Amino acid sequence: MRQKFKPGFTNSQLVGLVPDSEYRKRWKKAKPGYFEEARRLSREKRADYKFTVLAMYSEGQPICSCCNENRIEFLTINHLIGKGHRRDHLPSTALYRFLIVHDFPSGFNVLCFNCNCALGHFGFCPHTLERDLIDQETQHAREEMVKE
Ligand SMILES: [Zn+2]
Ligand SMILES: [Zn+2]
Repeated sequence: MRQKFKPGFTNSQLVGLVPDSEYRKRWKKAKPGYFEEARRLSREKRADYKFTVLAMYSEGQPICSCCNENRIEFLTINHLIGKGHRRDHLPSTALYRFLIVHDFPSGFNVLCFNCNCALGHFGFCPHTLERDLIDQETQHAREEMVKE
């Protein structure tokens, strides 16, 4: 059973991006190690959610559906419905949780950050072009073989 932490701290407070308020100083003094532990747990929980969601959408070990990248650090969830959808506004952990709670709805797939960024910025991933090119060359070679 996971220990429940006192709410009322934002993430940036937890990671120490904002200076300690009087309240936080008092809290820290009263419970040494609290912030470190909270941070460790939230990191663990995030990794849990991420793995569950990516494994589900990869139908097995998490893998990029474009380039087969399979190192989890490089992978992320991609919105097939594109930008502007309301779920785009969710930070990744909230999105992972949303997908788990809603029993993994369709409209999402797993991509690595490279493929995801290329798709987001240019509307296509260079891998797709390269694959098309290889397909064309294979097709061409086949036709040549038939001719001979
Ligand atoms: Zn990829
Ligand atoms: Zn790609």
